[in-house]
Amino acid sequence: MPDGRRQEISGRLADVRQRIDRACADAGKDAGHVTLVVVTKTWPVSDLRLLYELGARDLGENRLRELEEKAGQLTDLDIRWHFVGQVQSNKAAKVARYADVVHSVDSERVALKLSGGAHRFDRTVDCLVQVSLDAAGAGSGRGGVSHDDVDPVARALDSAGQVRLRGVMGVAPLDEDPGGAYARLLETSRQLTSAYPHAGWVSAGMSDDFEAAIAAGATHVRVGSAVLGARPVLG
Ligand SMILES: *Cc1c(COP(=O)(O)O)cnc(C)c1O
Repeated sequence: MPDGRRQEISGRLADVRQRIDRACADAGKDAGHVTLVVVTKTWPVSDLRLLYELGARDLGENRLRELEEKAGQLTDLDIRWHFVGQVQSNKAAKVARYADVVHSVDSERVALKLSGGAHRFDRTVDCLVQVSLDAAGAGSGRGGVSHDDVDPVARALDSAGQVRLRGVMGVAPLDEDPGGAYARLLETSRQLTSAYPHAGWVSAGMSDDFEAAIAAGATHVRVGSAVLGARPVLG
């Protein structure tokens, strides 16, 4: 791998880390409050190794096949794998085989299939309920269940074996100021933690809006292009 790529990633990663630290300070939180998940989808395994050498441990993928392939090639590294894409229920068991954290649980069925897979592969998987932040409600845009449908999914995760209910995740709609959307996600989070105090993770914020997400109370930001550059176009 050319040194140029290392320098590019190193510089961008340092910049993102600094922006996270600053956003934490502005929000009155210590820097350890927020976990940076670098979303590595479409990028080659060599980039993931560079990230690891630069201290990144939490890496995110959104497709099972890519996760499987990359995890298979990086078994020598203790990466914490985050799955951020939609989970198809017929593939959920396999997602549970590779992912340490699944951000995108959006049905009871997927919750149970993840639990089954975690049993089969003898693992424990941290899970977040994906909540729709679209003003028009679930189904209109970027995935997730509506605020009112969080509870059954949370209950399924909480009562199933080998999966741990950890919190909520949201993707801000494109047509709205992200601050408002993330404020709604935090409200959902507050309701969830009143029933499940251990489920306080809030996964929110991407390259363009992670500072707004941290200001609202995110504990996990999912950042791809700000660290790795514009994604190569998929063929
Ligand atoms: C790709 C992706 C990200 C990262 O997006 P960037 O804009 O590149 O930071 C975050 N979350 C999810 C769910 C994604 O699919």
